[in-house]
Amino acid sequence: MSLTNWASTWTFSATEVARPRTLDDVRRTVASSDRIRAVGTFHSFNDLGESAALVSLADMPADIELDEIAATVRVAAQLPFARIAEAIDARGWALANMGSLPHISVGGATATATHGSGLGNGNLSTSVVGLDLVTADGGVLHLDRADPRLPGAVVHLGMLGVVTHVTLAVQPRYRVRQDVYLDVPWSEVLADPIGVFGAGYSVSVFGLWGADTVQVWRKTRLADGEHGDLPATWRGGTRASGQRAIVGEDTDNVTVQGEPGAWHARLPHFRFDRQPSAQGEEIQTEYFVDIEDASAALAAVRALADRIDPLLLITELRTVAADELWLSTAYRRTSLAIHFTWRRQPTEVAALLPEIEAALAPFAPRPHWGKWFAMTEIGGLYPQFAEAAALVRELDPAGRFRNDYTRRVLGL
Ligand SMILES: Cc1cc2nc3c(=O)[nH]c(=O)nc-3n(C[C@H](O)[C@H](O)[C@H](O)COP(=O)(O)OP(=O)(O)OC[C@H]3O[C@@H](n4cnc5c(N)ncnc54)[C@H](O)[C@@H]3O)c2cc1C
Repeated sequence: MSLTNWASTWTFSATEVARPRTLDDVRRTVASSDRIRAVGTFHSFNDLGESAALVSLADMPADIELDEIAATVRVAAQLPFARIAEAIDARGWALANMGSLPHISVGGATATATHGSGLGNGNLSTSVVGLDLVTADGGVLHLDRADPRLPGAVVHLGMLGVVTHVTLAVQPRYRVRQDVYLDVPWSEVLADPIGVFGAGYSVSVFGLWGADTVQVWRKTRLADGEHGDLPATWRGGTRASGQRAIVGEDTDNVTVQGEPGAWHARLPHFRFDRQPSAQGEEIQTEYFVDIEDASAALAAVRALADRIDPLLLITELRTVAADELWLSTAYRRTSLAIHFTWRRQPTEVAALLPEIEAALAPFAPRPHWGKWFAMTEIGGLYPQFAEAAALVRELDPAGRFRNDYTRRVLGL
């Protein structure tokens, strides 16, 4: 049997996945393997997760322990965000944000700085206030806010061990309404990115690079009793009635538009009870640049529109607030996230990525750790990379959790 990831863009050398049921089983599995990595929901697009041996926590207990005094929830790392969201919402609590897909595991998502959108919203890793992990020697390590290593450990790319539990900050639950504006001129985004992305709690721009207009998805956080009605026109665009798809005409898999609802039923673009996105027939790439460089960076990519659009299903632009996590793609930089959902044309996509990276080079782009990119040796993009590398060597001196990706991309 050959094992591949969600979009079949990486075939693992391992042919099976260990599925321990207890913490002791996890410890034994790790300690008995020379090279091993945890897997989450296999939603990364590149070889980040590659290892001779793989371990899944899918058969471990589905712990969700809410602490209403501390306003935290300690959850089993293998759980998808949707399961956590449903459980805490039922008790009156919420997370600060969600990614486009609620199917992804909290352990895998926070390991790679997975994000949603919002100028004031950090990525999903910034909600992490504690980690429990099994380290290379089979030991158990708990890191919390009192430990100065936590900011270096949260975005760990699987290099520090097998994370069994993640503790997340929670807040009182809230409602959100999302509205889609059609035919907003590109020129509005280029002229005033902060105005466009500041027009909601979470804002996403969808489009093609050579088009004249884009779609803008505005997600408004509502106070109690608010309905959140937005104007029929905004920045030259028109508010859509009914449901709109991200790609094509199929609106069945997107979350409800034009009506207020629970935070977890509106912040993700895709419904948990449906197949997401292009259903695996895609490749994804994403680069993060300083929001201050947004207009210039977008203009640089638009200059390649003729090369990009024939390979593209859709581009999405989002924002991520700056944070202090050493390997976060938004480390000390409120960022514009420039995302590409490619058609499944791997050779052509791989050939184009260096051109996009050259166009973005003046803006020191940081690639999404879990998507396709061509850049190598990018530790220098992270001011605290030396400390992060030292932490990796401290917890895993023999490189049990490292692989070709960590060598190529980080020199580790
Ligand atoms: C359709 C689709 C939509 C997406 N939308 C977004 C989005 O909105 N925003 C965004 O930023 N990204 C997005 N992504 C990318 C995705 O969120 C990341 O690639 C994420 O890391 C995948 O999580 P996973 O649970 O599938 O982890 P995997 O891909 O299985 O693993 C990712 C890495 O984490 C490590 N890992 C996983 N679990 C553990 C654990 N318990 N302990 C230690 N290490 C672990 C693995 O070893 C690997 O290195 C999307 C991907 C897809 C396919």
